Amino acid sequence: MDTATARKRLEEIQAELERSIAVLKGEAEQDERVSDYPQDPADAGANLSESERTQAVLFVARTQHSQVVDALRRIEIGTYGTCVDCGSAVPEGRLEAKPEAARCVSCQGKWARQRR
Ligand SMILES: [Zn+2]
Repeated sequence: MDTATARKRLEEIQAELERSIAVLKGEAEQDERVSDYPQDPADAGANLSESERTQAVLFVARTQHSQVVDALRRIEIGTYGTCVDCGSAVPEGRLEAKPEAARCVSCQGKWARQRR
């Protein structure tokens, strides 16, 4: 995939993530307002899991957003498409599926294991 195509796709993903993050932030704020009111314990439990779910989705969206921003930065400096850990080329198919991928499959596996 050439960098012009990659940049276009990354910018689309970035715009979409920013829209979802804005919506999720609104939901999270609403959850907080709701939890200020006294309520019966059954409702409190339902609201808590709802707000935890929003927070979890928000976290995932923010993480992907920062990966997309990093990938756009790598396009700028000319290192896009090479693994940030070992410097070998990230396979085309992997970039097609996940344009923000920063690592080749084997480095990604090692990295994910280290973070557990
Ligand atoms: Zn690698």
